Amino acid sequence: MKGLFIGTGFHRCQKGLTNPQMIEPVIKTENITVYHADAFDVAQKRCSTCKVNQPASAFGKNARKYDGLQNECKKCRSLRYRTNTQAKREYDHSLRAIKKATKEATKKQYEKEHADEIAAEAEKRRMIARRKDTERSRRWARANKDRVAARNKKWRVANRLAVAAHEQRRRAAKSGAGGSFTAEEWKELCRQFGNQCLRCHRTDVKLAADHVLPIVSGGSSDIQNIQPLCLSCNSSKGTKHVDYRL
Ligand SMILES: [Zn+2]
Ligand SMILES: [Zn+2]
Repeated sequence: MKGLFIGTGFHRCQKGLTNPQMIEPVIKTENITVYHADAFDVAQKRCSTCKVNQPASAFGKNARKYDGLQNECKKCRSLRYRTNTQAKREYDHSLRAIKKATKEATKKQYEKEHADEIAAEAEKRRMIARRKDTERSRRWARANKDRVAARNKKWRVANRLAVAAHEQRRRAAKSGAGGSFTAEEWKELCRQFGNQCLRCHRTDVKLAADHVLPIVSGGSSDIQNIQPLCLSCNSSKGTKHVDYRL
Protein backbone atom coordinates (compact mmCIF):
# COMPACT_ATOMS: atom_id res chain seq x y z
CA MET A 1 0.00 0.00 0.00
CA LYS A 2 1.85 2.99 -1.27
CA GLY A 3 0.69 6.48 -1.93
CA LEU A 4 -2.61 7.80 -0.75
CA PHE A 5 -5.37 5.59 0.41
CA ILE A 6 -8.84 6.98 -0.09
CA GLY A 7 -11.60 5.74 2.07
CA THR A 8 -15.20 6.75 2.45
CA GLY A 9 -16.82 4.21 4.68
CA PHE A 10 -14.60 3.19 7.53
CA HIS A 11 -17.47 1.65 9.38
CA ARG A 12 -16.34 -1.46 7.49
CA CYS A 13 -13.13 -1.48 9.44
CA GLN A 14 -12.18 -5.09 10.09
CA LYS A 15 -11.37 -6.64 13.38
CA GLY A 16 -7.64 -6.93 13.77
CA LEU A 17 -6.72 -3.98 11.60
CA THR A 18 -5.73 -0.82 13.38
CA ASN A 19 -8.85 1.26 13.52
CA PRO A 20 -8.60 3.88 10.72
CA GLN A 21 -10.33 6.30 13.02
CA MET A 22 -7.19 6.25 15.14
CA ILE A 23 -5.11 7.35 12.17
CA GLU A 24 -4.86 11.03 11.36
CA PRO A 25 -6.36 11.64 7.88
CA VAL A 26 -4.48 13.81 5.40
CA ILE A 27 -7.68 15.30 4.04
CA LYS A 28 -11.09 15.06 5.54
CA THR A 29 -14.24 16.47 3.96
CA GLU A 30 -17.87 15.57 4.45
CA ASN A 31 -17.86 12.78 1.85
CA ILE A 32 -14.24 11.73 1.58
CA THR A 33 -11.42 10.92 3.92
CA VAL A 34 -7.87 10.55 2.67
CA TYR A 35 -5.23 8.70 4.66
CA HIS A 36 -1.59 8.28 3.92
CA ALA A 37 -1.20 4.63 3.09
CA ASP A 38 2.13 4.38 4.96
CA ALA A 39 0.16 4.82 8.12
CA PHE A 40 -1.50 1.49 7.37
CA ASP A 41 1.78 -0.29 6.81
CA VAL A 42 2.36 -0.44 10.55
CA ALA A 43 -1.17 -1.64 11.03
CA GLN A 44 -1.70 -5.27 11.84
CA LYS A 45 -4.36 -7.10 9.97
CA ARG A 46 -5.93 -10.28 11.25
CA CYS A 47 -5.94 -13.15 8.78
CA SER A 48 -9.43 -14.55 8.38
CA THR A 49 -8.10 -18.11 8.29
CA CYS A 50 -5.27 -18.41 10.80
CA LYS A 51 -6.53 -15.49 12.93
CA VAL A 52 -3.01 -14.21 13.43
CA ASN A 53 -2.33 -10.47 13.35
CA GLN A 54 0.24 -9.73 10.68
CA PRO A 55 1.67 -6.68 8.90
CA ALA A 56 0.04 -5.58 5.65
CA SER A 57 2.95 -7.08 3.70
CA ALA A 58 1.81 -10.58 4.68
CA PHE A 59 -1.40 -10.14 2.67
CA GLY A 60 -1.93 -10.22 -1.07
CA LYS A 61 -3.50 -7.27 -2.83
CA ASN A 62 -7.18 -7.01 -3.58
CA ALA A 63 -8.41 -3.66 -4.87
CA ARG A 64 -11.98 -4.52 -4.03
CA LYS A 65 -11.28 -4.67 -0.31
CA TYR A 66 -11.50 -1.39 1.52
CA ASP A 67 -7.93 -1.66 2.72
CA GLY A 68 -6.69 -3.04 -0.61
CA LEU A 69 -5.68 -6.37 0.92
CA GLN A 70 -6.90 -9.95 0.88
CA ASN A 71 -8.59 -11.06 4.06
CA GLU A 72 -6.51 -14.20 4.07
CA CYS A 73 -2.75 -14.03 4.55
CA LYS A 74 -0.45 -15.12 1.70
CA LYS A 75 0.64 -18.25 3.47
CA CYS A 76 -2.88 -19.43 4.17
CA ARG A 77 -3.93 -18.58 0.64
CA SER A 78 -1.08 -20.35 -1.09
CA LEU A 79 -1.41 -23.44 1.05
CA ARG A 80 -5.08 -23.57 0.35
CA TYR A 81 -4.43 -23.97 -3.34
CA ARG A 82 -1.52 -26.34 -2.98
CA THR A 83 -1.82 -29.87 -4.27
CA ASN A 84 0.87 -31.36 -2.05
CA THR A 85 -1.23 -33.32 0.41
CA GLN A 86 1.56 -33.78 2.93
CA ALA A 87 2.21 -30.04 3.13
CA LYS A 88 -1.51 -29.48 3.31
CA ARG A 89 -1.91 -31.93 6.14
CA GLU A 90 0.93 -30.35 8.06
CA TYR A 91 -0.54 -26.94 7.42
CA ASP A 92 -4.01 -28.00 8.57
CA HIS A 93 -2.42 -29.42 11.67
CA SER A 94 -0.52 -26.27 12.53
CA LEU A 95 -3.56 -24.18 11.63
CA ARG A 96 -5.65 -26.10 14.11
CA ALA A 97 -2.97 -25.58 16.76
CA ILE A 98 -2.80 -21.85 16.03
CA LYS A 99 -6.57 -21.49 16.13
CA LYS A 100 -6.75 -23.42 19.36
CA ALA A 101 -3.96 -21.38 20.94
CA THR A 102 -5.59 -18.14 19.84
CA LYS A 103 -8.92 -19.23 21.22
CA GLU A 104 -7.36 -20.28 24.51
CA ALA A 105 -5.39 -17.06 24.82
CA THR A 106 -8.53 -15.04 24.17
CA LYS A 107 -10.45 -17.06 26.71
CA LYS A 108 -7.66 -16.74 29.28
CA GLN A 109 -7.47 -13.01 28.71
CA TYR A 110 -11.23 -12.73 29.13
CA GLU A 111 -11.17 -14.79 32.31
CA LYS A 112 -8.36 -12.65 33.68
CA GLU A 113 -10.23 -9.44 32.98
CA HIS A 114 -13.56 -10.73 34.26
CA ALA A 115 -12.36 -12.91 37.16
CA ASP A 116 -14.65 -11.25 39.70
CA GLU A 117 -17.73 -11.50 37.50
CA ILE A 118 -16.99 -15.13 36.67
CA ALA A 119 -16.50 -16.03 40.33
CA ALA A 120 -19.72 -14.22 41.29
CA GLU A 121 -21.59 -15.98 38.50
CA ALA A 122 -20.27 -19.39 39.59
CA GLU A 123 -21.18 -18.68 43.21
CA LYS A 124 -24.68 -17.68 42.10
CA ARG A 125 -25.05 -20.93 40.15
CA ARG A 126 -23.82 -22.93 43.14
CA MET A 127 -26.29 -21.17 45.42
CA ILE A 128 -29.17 -21.84 43.05
CA ALA A 129 -28.16 -25.49 42.80
CA ARG A 130 -27.92 -25.75 46.59
CA ARG A 131 -31.30 -24.12 47.04
CA LYS A 132 -32.86 -26.46 44.47
CA ASP A 133 -31.27 -29.40 46.23
CA THR A 134 -32.59 -28.32 49.62
CA GLU A 135 -36.04 -27.68 48.19
CA ARG A 136 -36.08 -31.10 46.58
CA SER A 137 -35.10 -32.87 49.82
CA ARG A 138 -37.64 -30.82 51.77
CA ARG A 139 -40.37 -31.70 49.32
CA TRP A 140 -39.42 -35.34 49.57
CA ALA A 141 -39.32 -35.16 53.38
CA ARG A 142 -42.76 -33.52 53.49
CA ALA A 143 -44.20 -36.23 51.27
CA ASN A 144 -42.50 -39.03 53.25
CA LYS A 145 -42.84 -37.88 56.85
CA ASP A 146 -43.24 -41.38 58.25
CA ARG A 147 -40.17 -42.69 56.54
CA VAL A 148 -38.10 -39.69 57.68
CA ALA A 149 -39.23 -40.05 61.30
CA ALA A 150 -38.51 -43.79 61.28
CA ARG A 151 -35.13 -43.27 59.69
CA ASN A 152 -34.13 -40.51 62.14
CA LYS A 153 -35.23 -42.52 65.14
CA LYS A 154 -33.36 -45.59 63.94
CA TRP A 155 -30.24 -43.53 63.44
CA ARG A 156 -30.48 -41.79 66.84
CA VAL A 157 -30.93 -45.13 68.62
CA ALA A 158 -28.03 -46.68 66.79
CA ASN A 159 -25.78 -43.67 67.36
CA ARG A 160 -26.97 -42.38 70.73
CA LEU A 161 -23.56 -42.52 72.36
CA ALA A 162 -21.78 -41.16 69.35
CA VAL A 163 -24.32 -38.34 69.11
CA ALA A 164 -23.80 -37.39 72.75
CA ALA A 165 -20.02 -37.45 72.38
CA HIS A 166 -20.18 -35.49 69.16
CA GLU A 167 -22.48 -32.89 70.71
CA GLN A 168 -20.10 -32.43 73.64
CA ARG A 169 -17.12 -32.08 71.33
CA ARG A 170 -18.99 -29.57 69.23
CA ARG A 171 -19.95 -27.47 72.24
CA ALA A 172 -16.46 -27.64 73.70
CA ALA A 173 -14.92 -26.64 70.39
CA LYS A 174 -17.39 -23.76 70.11
CA SER A 175 -16.49 -22.48 73.58
CA GLY A 176 -12.80 -22.95 72.87
CA ALA A 177 -12.35 -25.03 76.01
CA GLY A 178 -10.76 -27.86 74.03
CA GLY A 179 -10.53 -31.51 74.95
CA SER A 180 -12.84 -34.26 73.85
CA PHE A 181 -13.95 -37.76 74.73
CA THR A 182 -14.83 -40.64 72.52
CA ALA A 183 -18.04 -42.64 72.41
CA GLU A 184 -16.12 -45.57 73.94
CA GLU A 185 -14.82 -43.47 76.85
CA TRP A 186 -18.35 -42.25 77.55
CA LYS A 187 -19.75 -45.78 77.41
CA GLU A 188 -17.03 -46.99 79.81
CA LEU A 189 -17.69 -44.07 82.20
CA CYS A 190 -21.44 -44.86 82.31
CA ARG A 191 -20.63 -48.54 82.95
CA GLN A 192 -18.25 -47.64 85.84
CA PHE A 193 -21.07 -45.75 87.57
CA GLY A 194 -23.67 -48.45 86.98
CA ASN A 195 -25.41 -46.67 84.12
CA GLN A 196 -27.21 -44.39 86.55
CA CYS A 197 -27.69 -40.67 86.93
CA LEU A 198 -25.16 -39.64 89.60
CA ARG A 199 -27.56 -37.09 91.06
CA CYS A 200 -30.95 -38.82 91.24
CA HIS A 201 -29.54 -42.35 90.89
CA ARG A 202 -32.20 -43.41 88.43
CA THR A 203 -31.19 -46.09 85.95
CA ASP A 204 -34.26 -45.95 83.73
CA VAL A 205 -33.36 -42.60 82.19
CA LYS A 206 -31.34 -41.38 79.27
CA LEU A 207 -27.91 -40.20 80.40
CA ALA A 208 -26.24 -37.03 79.22
CA ALA A 209 -22.58 -36.13 79.50
CA ASP A 210 -22.46 -33.35 82.07
CA HIS A 211 -19.38 -31.15 82.49
CA VAL A 212 -18.27 -31.24 86.16
CA LEU A 213 -16.64 -27.84 85.69
CA PRO A 214 -18.85 -26.19 83.07
CA ILE A 215 -17.37 -25.11 79.77
CA VAL A 216 -18.37 -21.51 80.51
CA SER A 217 -16.15 -21.67 83.60
CA GLY A 218 -13.24 -23.00 81.58
CA GLY A 219 -13.95 -26.73 81.92
CA SER A 220 -12.68 -28.98 79.16
CA SER A 221 -14.47 -31.84 77.44
CA ASP A 222 -11.89 -34.43 78.43
CA ILE A 223 -13.47 -37.50 79.96
CA GLN A 224 -11.96 -36.51 83.37
CA ASN A 225 -14.39 -33.57 83.43
CA ILE A 226 -17.47 -35.59 82.45
CA GLN A 227 -20.11 -37.23 84.63
CA PRO A 228 -23.30 -39.02 83.59
CA LEU A 229 -26.48 -37.19 84.59
CA CYS A 230 -30.03 -37.57 83.42
CA LEU A 231 -31.34 -34.76 81.26
CA SER A 232 -33.43 -33.25 84.05
CA CYS A 233 -30.56 -33.30 86.57
CA ASN A 234 -28.24 -31.97 83.91
CA SER A 235 -30.44 -28.94 83.37
CA SER A 236 -31.03 -28.44 87.13
CA LYS A 237 -27.28 -28.35 87.70
CA GLY A 238 -27.02 -25.64 85.07
CA THR A 239 -23.63 -23.92 85.09
CA LYS A 240 -22.72 -24.75 88.67
CA HIS A 241 -19.53 -26.62 89.49
CA VAL A 242 -20.66 -29.81 91.26
CA ASP A 243 -18.82 -33.13 91.20
CA TYR A 244 -21.29 -35.97 91.79
CA ARG A 245 -18.62 -38.58 91.20
CA LEU A 246 -17.22 -38.17 94.76
ZN1 LIG B 1 -3.29 -16.76 7.62
ZN1 LIG C 1 -30.95 -37.40 87.52
